[in-house]
Amino acid sequence: MAPRYWFFLFLASMTLGFTLDRVQHPASDSLVRFAVESKSLDPNVMREMVGRLKQQGLDVAGVNRNDGTIEVITTTGGIQALKTQGINGSLRESHSASFLRLDSRYLNSQKVEDELKSLQQRFPDLTRLEKIGTSLEGRAIWALLLSTTPHANDKNALSKPAIIFDGMHHAREIMTPEVVLDVAQTILPEARSKNSPLANILSRWNIWIVPMLNVDGNNVVWTKNSYWRKNAHADENSKVFGVDLNRNYPFMWSGCNGSSGSKNSDTYRGDQAASEPESTALIGLARRVLPTASLSYHSFSEFVLYPFGCGELRSSENLLHATLGKEMADMLPSDSNDGSTYVAETPWKLLYSADGESMSFMHSEFGATAFTFEINQEFQPDYGMREQTLVKHRKAWQHFLSRIDRNLLSIRVTQTQNENFLESATIEFDTIQHQHGEKPFRTNSAGQFFKVLDPGKYLVRARLPDGRFAEATVEMNGEPKYIELNL
Ligand SMILES: [Zn+2]
Repeated sequence: MAPRYWFFLFLASMTLGFTLDRVQHPASDSLVRFAVESKSLDPNVMREMVGRLKQQGLDVAGVNRNDGTIEVITTTGGIQALKTQGINGSLRESHSASFLRLDSRYLNSQKVEDELKSLQQRFPDLTRLEKIGTSLEGRAIWALLLSTTPHANDKNALSKPAIIFDGMHHAREIMTPEVVLDVAQTILPEARSKNSPLANILSRWNIWIVPMLNVDGNNVVWTKNSYWRKNAHADENSKVFGVDLNRNYPFMWSGCNGSSGSKNSDTYRGDQAASEPESTALIGLARRVLPTASLSYHSFSEFVLYPFGCGELRSSENLLHATLGKEMADMLPSDSNDGSTYVAETPWKLLYSADGESMSFMHSEFGATAFTFEINQEFQPDYGMREQTLVKHRKAWQHFLSRIDRNLLSIRVTQTQNENFLESATIEFDTIQHQHGEKPFRTNSAGQFFKVLDPGKYLVRARLPDGRFAEATVEMNGEPKYIELNL
């Protein structure tokens, strides 16, 4: 029988109410990686199977589009339960181990902090190091600003858009801080070189990097359980259950079955939106700097994801995201070196619905052009993969910076009588309709707003709470544009 036939038989048995015990959250002493055979390379078939595995409470780690497998983290007992259901696959590790020995060259929170402080000391005129929060276990969460206007009270900083790069929402995704740190390690030395394409970027943008958000979870990964995903939130008996930080953001929190209300689940969303100090740290930074763009690094599956996380929802800026996403995906060859590349789409189209995640928050709250990368083909690749991972992602994020720089519209709202109302002006575009609870675009305290736009002609309107407005038409043509709207 053709492999696909078997698969449909399997699906039919599932929908007919094949009785399954819900797979227990894996105990940390017997975790294994198990690659489920989807028997198809069709992304729709794979996505459907991912959905069914998640419905059973399984921790779906990622997919491999090249061999049609879906990797789950489970126990040996969990594998038995899957096999009883007729779900076949192969063990990805020959031993069952909850605690793999990680290559000690990967970074822990202390090493990230040391490197950020070192960068700040080497480039004091181009950086500012900020502690943006403290984790539940008391670790500092750091952000480094890269900018020619790094000082906190420099008013000139308000005339530049901001981008935030973040890594390690999920503790086990140990390559992600490496990629985010590489942004600073690459840009800062280049910023002083006249011939570099990156020479002017820090005079035009405020670039924030947050390499390691989940500092407590990272500690769990190094000391107890190398597959740990969530933070280290503990109950009154000090038992760690953990909250999935990337299901804890306010936009669509608990909104579309894209997270779990169970503390045992690997996608536990927390008891309310923004309940965790780590997510709150990033939210707080974003609310201060009002990001125009955001790149968030996760692993794995070799995807470039764009808004929204919830099933069937599309941003009215979908075309911009699809275009930029495909450009970056095409620049990112697969780790399998088979000629294939990353794939760009929404999470729900490629994997599953996710609610309360950071990318959709950045897009909906600030109008940021926002992407989430799912890098590599596993959580903890051999350290030898690090260099090639950094090199390919360096190309992709540099391309992104150059594209958003060229497609940037800077708007300044001015008026002569009263300085106060500048901050409360909202900005509207004739082509951008908000239909999913997105917040209005707002100017910063200098009356400025920045937007990445596709080429084309736009009607832009600044509006005050009392109804007064000013508008202008602007044509975007691959060059950055600046307009003033006088009220
Ligand atoms: Zn992740």
